[in-house]
Amino acid sequence: MGTTTDVQYHIVPSRPEAHIYTVTCTIPQPDPDGQVFSMPAWIPGSYMIRDFSKNIVVMQAHSEGREIAIEKQDKHTWQCAPVPGTLSIVYEVYAWDLSVRGAHLDTTHGYFNGAGVFICVHGRELQPCTVYVLQPAGETYAQWRVATTLPREDAELHGFGRYKASSYDELIDHPVEMGTFELASFEVAGVPHEIALTGRHRADLARLGQDLAKVCAQHVSLFGELPDIERYLFQVMAVGDGYGGLEHRASTSLLCSRYDLPMPGETEISERYRGFLGLCSHEYFHTWNVKRIKPAAFTPYNLNQETHTRLLWMFEGITSYYDDLALVRSGLIGAESYLELLGQMITRVLRGSGRFRQSVSDSSFDAWTKFYKQDDNAQNAIVSYYAKGAMIAMALDLLIRLGTQQLYSLDNVMRMLWEKYGKTGIGVPEQGVEQQISELVGLDLKDFFDCYVRGTEDMPLQEYLQPFGVSIEMRVAESEQDKGGKPATKPVKEGGRSVLGVRTAEAPGGVQITHVLESGAAQAAGIAAGDVVIAMEGLRVNAKDLETRLTMYRPGETVTLHVFRRDELLQMPVILQAAEADTCVLRIGKEGLTDLGKNWLGLPVA
Ligand code: ZN
Repeated sequence: MGTTTDVQYHIVPSRPEAHIYTVTCTIPQPDPDGQVFSMPAWIPGSYMIRDFSKNIVVMQAHSEGREIAIEKQDKHTWQCAPVPGTLSIVYEVYAWDLSVRGAHLDTTHGYFNGAGVFICVHGRELQPCTVYVLQPAGETYAQWRVATTLPREDAELHGFGRYKASSYDELIDHPVEMGTFELASFEVAGVPHEIALTGRHRADLARLGQDLAKVCAQHVSLFGELPDIERYLFQVMAVGDGYGGLEHRASTSLLCSRYDLPMPGETEISERYRGFLGLCSHEYFHTWNVKRIKPAAFTPYNLNQETHTRLLWMFEGITSYYDDLALVRSGLIGAESYLELLGQMITRVLRGSGRFRQSVSDSSFDAWTKFYKQDDNAQNAIVSYYAKGAMIAMALDLLIRLGTQQLYSLDNVMRMLWEKYGKTGIGVPEQGVEQQISELVGLDLKDFFDCYVRGTEDMPLQEYLQPFGVSIEMRVAESEQDKGGKPATKPVKEGGRSVLGVRTAEAPGGVQITHVLESGAAQAAGIAAGDVVIAMEGLRVNAKDLETRLTMYRPGETVTLHVFRRDELLQMPVILQAAEADTCVLRIGKEGLTDLGKNWLGLPVA
């Protein structure tokens, strides 16, 4: 039970039609020098300054029936005048950000992350607090329920009422969904798990529950146990077109397309559903890796400003490696399907020349200004610590399995990190991962880390995969939509496929250049991101027929493009180049997977 000196929060969707939550924060025994409080600048798990204070519309403070002066100190910090009695701060939050990182409210549902709605009362961060999640007034909202893993005090399960948190850090780590969502439940390791699905859909929720139960059980078996949680919640919002996930200590918030969900009567796993299961698997793995095994830089989080670590490749990359791996290990997808996913992931990395300019260690450090703020030069300048991090995780797994005669694998490393850091709450030092792996498995990995983690070299993946019975084939992309992972559908024309070396999008009256690739034909010709191509060789082009038109020309030929840069028409001769073999396909060799390969993917060994 809370005590009367606890900070209390009341949150009510006071004006759903205006996207306004009203929050009251009651502070008994405020700081006698004048209470200071602030809003977070960022939300854990998403490494970008978001300045949630910007959504606070109005704010007032009261004590013993009198209004109290508030002075703003910086963009997200305030101080109240000193008061002897209990202080109440009342404010309105504008909530119209339909993402897993913000807060959203309309007449159909409400969703919020605590980081976006709850002020942090300085000096009281480590104390327990009470939260009243209140029902909006009116008949329209009579059927609304609540889905959250905030510990309940006197609120019923799925009910409005009184919840609690042991600290501010916990308060903002249990997002709340309210509305008329559907529920499915299952159990993993004796702990109740729920899916709360919001949005219009025709999904087979029971099947989703059965499939997720297998994925979750797979992760639990890897770590040997679930962290100490009472329940786990998948909060899913299905929309027409959306994608996102954010991990929390006992839940995850997911945004997906309704077409990603399994339909009644379907038994196959479609590519879209496979992608959604991978996303759920990713966020669930984070329950251990980043929510509990954390970089030392995040223990505790400093939500006032950017917090740098060179280890995001480890927290996001290893998680990205295990997300899909769990699908094959749990039997949901086959080995070929898994290798297709790996091929796509490798393709994503190999298509960006930025991998030669930025290491995953630097990419982690600069996540705040580069990975989270990608611009038209991203492919030439940065590398994803997710995708290349996952490649490094795979390489480490394969090297450890091979180098220790299968005595160890990356699974053992994860379990050791869980024991040493996750269960103790000690942060992982910046050099900790490399050191721990080397100590555990007895391999000297300094060169590996120098070249591929701190350096920008490509890994010899073929060499790593071959003992597992898997070979790599590189081919030319068949179109801009070709994600890789699958064999070519037709032979490549003699002389190769002609390309401009750009990424494009549809634009009124032509084709918009979104990215100009380093050392490509378009760059050499002076074409820039933002240009709109309206004609090639005197004929009008649009996004659909640009690629078809390029097939009429051979690499080395010159074509004249007419492009608009802003409102200026330019005529630009471009010498076409041959597409590079940047598309990866992984194949199981003629002899099938070796025993090493079967053990890796969790398949039975004959
Ligand atoms: Zn992640």
